[in-house]
Amino acid sequence: DLTKRVPVPETPRELNELGVRFNDLLLQLEKQFEREKSFVSNASHELRTPLTAFKGHLNLIKRWGKKDPEILDQAIQALKEESDRMEKMMVQLLTIARNEHMETQMEKVDLTKVIKQTIQQFQSSTTMQIKGDLEEDLSVKGDEEQLRQIFVILLDNAIHYSDDKGEINVTLQKQGNSVELSVSDQGIGIPFEEQKKIFDRFYRVDKNRSRKTGGTGLGLSIAKELVDNHGGSIRVKSGPGEGSTFIVSLPCWK
Ligand code: ADP
Repeated sequence: DLTKRVPVPETPRELNELGVRFNDLLLQLEKQFEREKSFVSNASHELRTPLTAFKGHLNLIKRWGKKDPEILDQAIQALKEESDRMEKMMVQLLTIARNEHMETQMEKVDLTKVIKQTIQQFQSSTTMQIKGDLEEDLSVKGDEEQLRQIFVILLDNAIHYSDDKGEINVTLQKQGNSVELSVSDQGIGIPFEEQKKIFDRFYRVDKNRSRKTGGTGLGLSIAKELVDNHGGSIRVKSGPGEGSTFIVSLPCWK
């Protein structure tokens, strides 16, 4: 952005300002570089984990597969679950890479319509009740696919972390100059001290539990990046055993 460039300094004060701006820029670059480095090392670690599991289960099959049908079935089931999780992670990693390199197409999107459609789709594939309380004709400035994706991630998690208990409530309403979307579940909830970290890439509250249920720790980090792209904010209200409510706030269309 040319307007943000510092003019060529002419006075000592301007030279001083330039130095400050320069150091600030260096710090930002260093931070960004650290983030990239830790992302790459986390990603390779997270991809290696299912591979190690693959090898373990394949060894079991090789050793016991012909003699013990029960071990064979268990190992095949485990291989299926691990490969599903790995596939999900690959798709999410590609999404992250794409989001970084693509400009968001900003146009008028009828969010009410997008949310309604998505609830209908989900309702046909889950036994849980999804109730919508949506204000009509609420539009935001954004990218329809990205907005849908934010909602899909939240709805997916709400179902996932509910163990079929309770119902899911979705609300959409105007709040001043913003549109507020909330997704509430009555599931296992999130301890207060974890609530800030769940938006970090690869962070899972309980790795063992989450792995069993196919988690990757990427969903909410993607949701947050997409919300940021739209100039919005995302927050959570939750407590262990009290369910969770995720609230997304996006600037209104006019
Ligand atoms: P994952 O693929 O593990 O679900 P996310 O980034 O979507 O990754 O979520 C990060 C963590 O936040 C999850 O592992 C889970 O512990 C917690 N979490 C997210 N949504 C919910 C929810 N609705 N209820 C309880 N815990 C949740």
